[in-house]
Amino acid sequence: MSFYHKSKKLNNVCYDIRGPVLERANELEEEGYRILKLNIGNPAPFGFNAPDEIIQDVIRMLPDSEGYSDSKGLYSARKAVMQECQKIGIPGVEVGDIYLGNGASELISMATQALLNQGDEVLIPAPDYPLWTAVVSLSGATPVHYLCQEEQNWEPSIDDILSKITPNTKAIVIINPNNPTGAVYSRELLEQLVAIAEEHNLVVFADEIYSKILYDEAVHIPIGSLKADILCLTFNGLSKAYRLAGFRSGWLIVSGAKDRATDYIEGLNILSSMRLCANVPAQHAIQTALGGYQSINELILPGGRLLEQRDLAHKMLNEIPGLSCTKPEGAIYMFPRLDPEVYPIKDDEKMILELLNQERILLVPGSGFNWPDADHFRLVFLPNKLDLADAIERLGNFLARYRKQ
Ligand code: PLP
Repeated sequence: MSFYHKSKKLNNVCYDIRGPVLERANELEEEGYRILKLNIGNPAPFGFNAPDEIIQDVIRMLPDSEGYSDSKGLYSARKAVMQECQKIGIPGVEVGDIYLGNGASELISMATQALLNQGDEVLIPAPDYPLWTAVVSLSGATPVHYLCQEEQNWEPSIDDILSKITPNTKAIVIINPNNPTGAVYSRELLEQLVAIAEEHNLVVFADEIYSKILYDEAVHIPIGSLKADILCLTFNGLSKAYRLAGFRSGWLIVSGAKDRATDYIEGLNILSSMRLCANVPAQHAIQTALGGYQSINELILPGGRLLEQRDLAHKMLNEIPGLSCTKPEGAIYMFPRLDPEVYPIKDDEKMILELLNQERILLVPGSGFNWPDADHFRLVFLPNKLDLADAIERLGNFLARYRKQ
């Protein structure tokens, strides 16, 4: 019984990556069990440490980090992001168009709060990174999910997007490289998406936090680099490619049709000022991260640990009967499918909970990513090869029992 109730604003808000299944995992850990956690994209605990030069620079700058910074962030760090824009081809970005935040998460929340009113609609991929659905709901607007198609390497369905645009549609979220599917979108596809945004005056929210985690021949094309008369907000940060998730350091780049967005930008400035500024020591990491040696490449090129783990997980998962998994071209996740003919799952959260209780492996059910059917789950391939192989073997054992039920 609760006397104190959460606000009604939270009625449709959920974030299952850290939801009830994780609570059960924590209980089991307290009882002394070792849980193999393949649930959260947090590189450092799996031995993916940040480049030492970043840590050393932050230590050196600590004595200068006692005060608040400018609410948008330190000039030097924003300048480094601006130079990064020049490098990756996002035109016309000035230091004033860049906002630093406590992770991309804070900026995603600010960007949606500043734009949306009740009744507005935002197109969000399904499956999604659920923060987007949560923040859009929290802002009072309505998340409308467009389908990504597994049989087409998880590319968004243009027809589905077009069928879901209404006069209330304000924005479209594009997550590229994608969490949870690992898809990396082609230039042709991005051009189609941007053309839709242009035609319908949609703000593009480009979540590109995995832009530097690419495998094989994959190339990342920043949406802000495409020629189109759209307002584009690009989100990125230090959590993934620089393995500094705990620093909570990210940035937002406003590019494109800024001249038509002065009022919205004023809203962003208000929210940015209200939170005073992002954590200052972590802002000091940005310049070195972007300008220094890009050590992520050692992990994703042939012989790299992340690449090898992806290949192992992909191979082992596809050997499980009734399971199929697209090979991720980017990011650190897989979103495998369990054939409903083989595994008639009614409640995927219950299935993932049973897996946890029986095999001590923690995954996230597909429904946690606003996937409409109970036939997927997400796996993070950050654990080392031994742990990954152990986890997938145990998953296979569990599924063999599940099939026979
Ligand atoms: N966007 C996507 C697609 C993510 O996967 C994550 C974190 O997992 C974030 C944003 C949030 O990143 P940050 O740690 O910068 O808040």
